[in-house]
Formats: sequence, structure tokens, C-alpha cells
Amino acid sequence: MMFSHIDAAPADPILGLTEAFKADKRTDKVNLGVGIYKDETGKTPILESVKLAEQKLVALEETKSYLGIEGVAKYNLAVQTLLFGKESSIISQKRAATAQAPGGTGALRVAAEFLVAQTPNKTIWVSNPTWANHNNIFQTAGLTVKQYSYYDAASHGLDFEAMVADLSSAKAGDVVLLHGCCHNPTGIDLNLEQWQVIGQLCLEKQLLPLFDFAYQGFGVGVEEDAQGIRTIANMVPELLVANSFSKNFGLYNERIGGVTLVAADQQTATKAFSQVKKLIRANYSNPPAHGALVVSTILEDEALTKLWLSELTAMRERIATMRTLFVDTLKAEGVKTDFSFIAEQCGMFSFSGLNKDQVAKLKEEFGVYIVGSGRISVAGMTKENMPVICKAIAQV
Ligand code: PLP
Repeated sequence: MMFSHIDAAPADPILGLTEAFKADKRTDKVNLGVGIYKDETGKTPILESVKLAEQKLVALEETKSYLGIEGVAKYNLAVQTLLFGKESSIISQKRAATAQAPGGTGALRVAAEFLVAQTPNKTIWVSNPTWANHNNIFQTAGLTVKQYSYYDAASHGLDFEAMVADLSSAKAGDVVLLHGCCHNPTGIDLNLEQWQVIGQLCLEKQLLPLFDFAYQGFGVGVEEDAQGIRTIANMVPELLVANSFSKNFGLYNERIGGVTLVAADQQTATKAFSQVKKLIRANYSNPPAHGALVVSTILEDEALTKLWLSELTAMRERIATMRTLFVDTLKAEGVKTDFSFIAEQCGMFSFSGLNKDQVAKLKEEFGVYIVGSGRISVAGMTKENMPVICKAIAQV
């Protein structure tokens, strides 16, 4: 017997929180744990643009035959256009190659396996803190994970000096994971000058940037949020991007993302990408079609693209409104701590600064669920649950 000796794996901290939330019998409970967009009524709706694209697909789809290893070609080009911009020379010079992947997670895993197989140091630097699954994915694939400073608890902002100092100690050939926008979990992004400094550092120290881009359009806008990727892509010869459409198209369970490799020239990109394809073939062979067809159907149709952009704007603006309302309601509840930094952060998450004890109390005494680090999913807030949340925070 081999299985009887196996220890139980620890539950995923965020998904475990959802389980506990579901089991909670209180009617005024609030889940601010998991990173899923919710509308004002607390639902995660299917976008209208997605529904229309799906109707079109059902009417026109002719086969369920396999896709190629890299997925739907027009989808992959659409990914590159979103990442680098319509006029990008990276696209016209064919320096980029994209493989459709099962979600951002699948894209990160493919990228990680490629890095293990093809980079000299097999070492990746991630921000402190970062999305917990980064460590999990990279370590499982066989990379050594190191941390660079990022969050400054005292100012609730970015410790850019420490970030640069830490990355300056990286070795040539190391990989640096960067959050394209809407940093998870802190909600704090680099500005243009800071991106330029990091680009220069990668260039001088020969570090390979790997962008995780899971929230394009949730920060400032679709084009604006690509500023970091585009700035660095214009400075360095090589990079990788793992993007996800789970959030900005609301396609969570369709598992749709992409892994994009950029090289110095087309020939190098094609050769290196053949190794990515080899890894995919040995992993899931080829990706599922539906999510990619939905995204490319929307992006190749002007009216559907317009509708999608307006729906994305509505999601982004609702979150921004909740940030301001949260800060104002806390003030109105008499909370002395200054939470105004929350209104300045962007994306779905904020680092609230609430400590482990406060987080535990919020859950046990008030039914308000937040992950242990104090990360709050702002997308889970509504006008209705705001008083419950803020009264509870005022009490702890
Ligand atoms: N990267 C970050 C920073 C995320 O927050 C997420 C999702 O929560 C992902 C990647 C993965 O997204 P997907 O659900 O597409 O795998």
C-alpha cells in the first residue's frame, strides 16, 4: 500500500476561507477574501458582450476538432495587441510568440517550466508580498524563489529604494516576476519612472522580466494598465508575459489566458517558442477552445469590443466608488486610523493593515471574512454590506 502513508496537504488559505464562509450560518456575513468581481447585488455576472459572443459561436461553430498546441491563432494575436498595443514593432517584427493557456495560472506554470528548462540559474524573484500561488507554482515547477522588498507597512506604500537594492543583488540570468498592474495583494503599482528604473536594471544586470498580467483594465484603463509591460518591453530584448482574462472578461471558469515570449528577433522567438510548445504537448497537449473563441470573437468585432470596454469600465468604476465609500464610512463610524491610502490603491485588492488578531475577530465575531494578511477584496463590497463591514472594523 502506498497511499496510506501520504500526509494531507494543507488547505489553500484563500479557498479554505471560502469554505468557512459558506458554512457560516449568519445572514449578514460578508466575504472579502476571494478575488472575484461582484456587482452591486453581490453577483458575479456573465458579461453581456460574452453572452452575445457565445450566441454567435453557437450559431457558427462547425467543429470541435483539436486546436494546435498554441491554441487559436487569432486569439494569440489579439493577446499581443492588448499587451503591446496595435502599433507595436514587437508585433510587426514578429518578435513575440503566444500560446493560449488555461488561465493565468496555466500560463504561469508553462512559463515556470520553460524557465526551469532554459534559464541558467533557475531562480525567480517575487515581490514581498505576492499572490500566494506564485510561490506554489514556481516551487512546484522546480524554481528557486527569492523575494524582493515591495510593501512598506509604515507608509502603506511602495518601498521602491529597497526593491531596487534587492534586485541589484540578483545574478545575471535570474528572472524577476513583476505584476503588470493592480498588484495582488497590495494594490500598489509602479509609476512610469519606476518602471523605467526597473527596465534599466533588468537590462544592465541581464535579468529576465516575467510579467503576471491578470487585471488589465481594472486599474486605470486597458491601454494605461499596459504601461509597465510596454515600457520594459521597449527597453529589454527578451521577456515573458503570463496574462489572464478571468477577471477582465469575467471568464473565470473557462480558464483562459496566454503565455507570450518576446525575443530579440523573429528567428530566436520561433526557436525558443518551440520549446514552450514541447512543454505544453507534454502537459495538456493543447488548450480548450471556448474561452479563446469568446475573447477573439469580441475583440474582432468593433461593436462587441465597445460593449466589453464599457462593461469593464463599469466594473473598474464600481470598485473605485467602493474604495471611496469604504474610507468615508470608516471615518463616519469614528475609526481614528487613517485609511485614506485605500482610495489611492488600484485593482481588486487592498492591504488594509489589519493584523491577524483583528482579522480573526472580524471573522468570528462579525462574520466578515478577510485573508490573514489583511488583504481585502474591495470587489466584494457593496453599498448594502458597507455599514456591516465598517462597523465591524470600528469594533476591532
Ligand atoms: N495572477 C494573479 C496576480 C492573480 O491574482 C490571479 C488570480 O487570482 C492569477 C494570476 C490567475 O488567474 P487565473 O484564474 O486566470 O488562473
